Amino acid sequence: VMASMAHLQKEKLRLQEELLELQEKLAAKENSELSLSLQLQDQVETLKAKLLEQAQEITRLRSELGSTDVEKHRDLLAAENERLRQEMKACEGELRELQRQQQAPCRDCPHLQENAGLREQLSQLQREAEETRAKLAELDLEVQQKTNRLAEVELRLKDSLAERAEEEERLSRRLRDSQETIASLKSQPQQIKYIIKTVEVESAKAKQALCETQSRNQYLQEQVGMQKQVLKEMEQQLQKSQKTEAQLRAQIMMYEAELERAHGQMLEEMQAMEEEKNHAIEEAFSRAQVEMKAVHENLAGVRTNLLTLQPALRTLTHDYNNLKRQVRDFPLLLQEALRSARAEISQAIEEVHSTNRELLRKYRRELQLRKKCHNELVRLKGNIRVFGRVRPITKEDGEGPEAANAVTFDADDDAVLYLLHKGKQVSFELDKVFPPQASQEEVFQEVQALVTSCIDGYNVCIFAYGQTGAGKTYTMEGTAANPGINQRALQLLFSEVRGKAADWDYAITVSAAEIYNEALRDLLGKEPQEKLEIKLCPDGSGQLYVPGLTEFRVQSVEDINKVFEFGHIKRVTECTNLNEHSSRSHALLIVTVRGLDRSTGLRTTGKLNLVDLAGSERVGRSGAEGSRLREAQHINKSLSALGDVIYALRSRQGHVPFRNSKLTYLLQDSLSGDSKTLMMVQVSPAEKNSSETLCSLKFAERVRSVELGPVSRKAELGSWPSQEHLEGDSPGSAASPGRGHASPSPGQLSSRSASIRRKLQTSG
Ligand code: ADP
Ligand code: MG
Repeated sequence: VMASMAHLQKEKLRLQEELLELQEKLAAKENSELSLSLQLQDQVETLKAKLLEQAQEITRLRSELGSTDVEKHRDLLAAENERLRQEMKACEGELRELQRQQQAPCRDCPHLQENAGLREQLSQLQREAEETRAKLAELDLEVQQKTNRLAEVELRLKDSLAERAEEEERLSRRLRDSQETIASLKSQPQQIKYIIKTVEVESAKAKQALCETQSRNQYLQEQVGMQKQVLKEMEQQLQKSQKTEAQLRAQIMMYEAELERAHGQMLEEMQAMEEEKNHAIEEAFSRAQVEMKAVHENLAGVRTNLLTLQPALRTLTHDYNNLKRQVRDFPLLLQEALRSARAEISQAIEEVHSTNRELLRKYRRELQLRKKCHNELVRLKGNIRVFGRVRPITKEDGEGPEAANAVTFDADDDAVLYLLHKGKQVSFELDKVFPPQASQEEVFQEVQALVTSCIDGYNVCIFAYGQTGAGKTYTMEGTAANPGINQRALQLLFSEVRGKAADWDYAITVSAAEIYNEALRDLLGKEPQEKLEIKLCPDGSGQLYVPGLTEFRVQSVEDINKVFEFGHIKRVTECTNLNEHSSRSHALLIVTVRGLDRSTGLRTTGKLNLVDLAGSERVGRSGAEGSRLREAQHINKSLSALGDVIYALRSRQGHVPFRNSKLTYLLQDSLSGDSKTLMMVQVSPAEKNSSETLCSLKFAERVRSVELGPVSRKAELGSWPSQEHLEGDSPGSAASPGRGHASPSPGQLSSRSASIRRKLQTSG
């Protein structure tokens, strides 16, 4: 309500300002009108003066000329003039009345526009009146001019009349003189006669002069007539102009009537506006009063509310004071609470700490236990395992009976395979057999447990064994689209290491080497031709190392690919015929995983050796000569040495002949102790390769058949039979170790060894 009051006040002020503005404008208008009317009055005044002058002039002329027809006309004109003057006066009176009416305008009228419109009309009418007045003045001027001309003519007339009168007088005088002379002469007859004669003569002269005078008189009279004619014309003109004047006056009257009507209308409208304004003001006032009343009521309500609120306020203040006190005390309370909370927390932390310590201790114990269990498991499974993989028949195998499939599988046992050799079916039992359709992925799945154990610090060897073309390289390296164990193993290592990154720091390094003709060469080094030596660590730990063997730290699959590519390029550039060369050399990829457990400080080192062995095919005993023979001898020697070592390890002989070949010597660390070894025996299923397949499978079974027995140093078995011995020879000479964990009695052969022997005998 207050706001609306304020608003109304503002509105009122605004209206008052508007009113003042309008009043000012009105005053200015009035001033201009006043000056206009003054001007008009002046004009009327001058016109009046002129009229007066004219009248005087006319009366003067009349008095001079006497009352003629012209004078009668002039009288008439004067009367008309007088009438016009009367009319003018009436007009002036009306004008004054109008002005007076205009001088009393509605002072408070806010309706400016209508007022302005009316004023406009008024000013238009005034303009028209002014025009009319100007016309009137023009006419007056004309009348004056004519009057002037008339006066002039009259003056001339008067002059000529005066002249004539003078002349007449002069003539009459002379006539009198002459008559006197004649009389005197009559009295003096003689003389008179003479005188008469003279007089007659003179009279004739006089008569002539009279005639002249008379003609002149006639001319003057003519002139007077002419002048009268002119006067008449002028009067006619005057009449005409008076008619026009009358017309104009009628017009003026019409305009003035219109003006009056407009003025009346304006007044009416002003009055209506005034009423409206008053009404609006009244209404606003009454509304404001009502609102005021409402506000007062509200105020009263608020007052009562306030009165009721006061006690509440008092309680609030009381509460507030209480709160203030509490707030003042709060820091102390808080500090106390914090102190106790801190104590509790530190106690809890202490407890958690001790529990953690306990847990860590338990965890370490569990870890050791797990390792032990794992070792036990591996031991039970045998930490040397033999898998077989049969490649599919390829185009290279050719066509016809030679390329026929000679290998079949057991539908119920994935560890058994049958080979058709020389019309007889021979069965072999390994740890697992992969048929031709087994994918790289499936093969790797069986291998990956070995690979991951490398992260736990175990040394692992994976060998691919078999004749050239049986799929060794395919299994180890694979193709770009379908990678083999090498790349998959490294990928798995990376992902495992990433998974353990929260507790462990790992470093993975890679070396690549080749053994050809018992010479070890670095495939990643700057000088691949250089022969490397295997040496004992000078620290007395008994560990072996290869001085100068390049190690690359790898952190991603891309790094490995680069390393492989690098090694491959080296191998290609160094050899004229890679296929032949690779089939006669052993290729090694050595991955070292070094780990550090950040929580315990435990360090582990595991080695993963991935070996693509040289082709195991036998070179004909005769025919091979020179370097070919030497190569064959070297290969034969190293593969035999590998067999010997594995055999010695599995039978836990005191002496393992690692030093018999470069390969076994290099892998000594990774073959002994609790290391794990996998032999992947690759075979070709083609009929024509059945002899070689038979040899490979015999080798595999022989490796596998060496069951782990208790360590028996006594059971000296000596060297493994060489490759040549495997063929045809009965392995009976090679005594098998005892089987089972209980001490076997000498000569008690394992059933497997027996079965091998049987098989060998049948094949032999
Ligand atoms: P090796 O290295 O033993 O001499 P390779 O690995 O070079 O033998 O294999 C000889 C041929 O047989 C290659 O063309 C290879 O692609 C093919 N091959 C070997 N094993 C398989 C397999 N499991 N699946 C498909 N093709 C194979
Ligand atoms: Mg190969």
